[in-house]
Amino acid sequence: MQNLISKLTGLPGIGPRTAERLAFNLLKMPTEQALDLAEAIRQIKTQIKPCSVCCNLTDQDPCPICSDQRRDHSVICVVEQPKDLTIIEAAGAYNGVYHVLMGQIAPLDGVEPEHLTIEPLIDRIRSGQVKEVIMATNPTMEGDGTALHVASLLGRLNVKITRLARGLAVGSQIEFASKATVTDALSDRKEL
Ligand code: ZN
Repeated sequence: MQNLISKLTGLPGIGPRTAERLAFNLLKMPTEQALDLAEAIRQIKTQIKPCSVCCNLTDQDPCPICSDQRRDHSVICVVEQPKDLTIIEAAGAYNGVYHVLMGQIAPLDGVEPEHLTIEPLIDRIRSGQVKEVIMATNPTMEGDGTALHVASLLGRLNVKITRLARGLAVGSQIEFASKATVTDALSDRKEL
């Protein structure tokens, strides 16, 4: 038990007391359910990897979106997190490909541009077949700052850069937006 409690302690938002409660809950849980949880953790660490093209998390490389030839590979929608990609996909209004930055520039939280997947994005655009980059970072201070930083780096390359329209309320997050809002924000995007 002590071993499990010490391993749970220190997970985001989990202090020693919560860890202890979780450990006792796991102990009481049906064996199969607890082992399913252990297996899910094993799978994400052994089978889920970043796509070598778009950096989204996937169990296939390249991921199903990057390897789909029916999609428009000349348009890249740049999002902060895999969950943002999932929301835009669910809205069903976008047929290009994606690039997942894996975060937003936030110096106060210690996240600098080099921690994001900006270099691989620049490499993709240098390859020449990309015509438009849609910056779909969140309409927050950090998201806007990230969009501007990436746009300034891409400015030297021959590519059109757009930003999602403000149908998304300032300070809101894509992951909580409705399908209709995401669809409008995409179709009303503005050139940066
Ligand atoms: Zn991919």
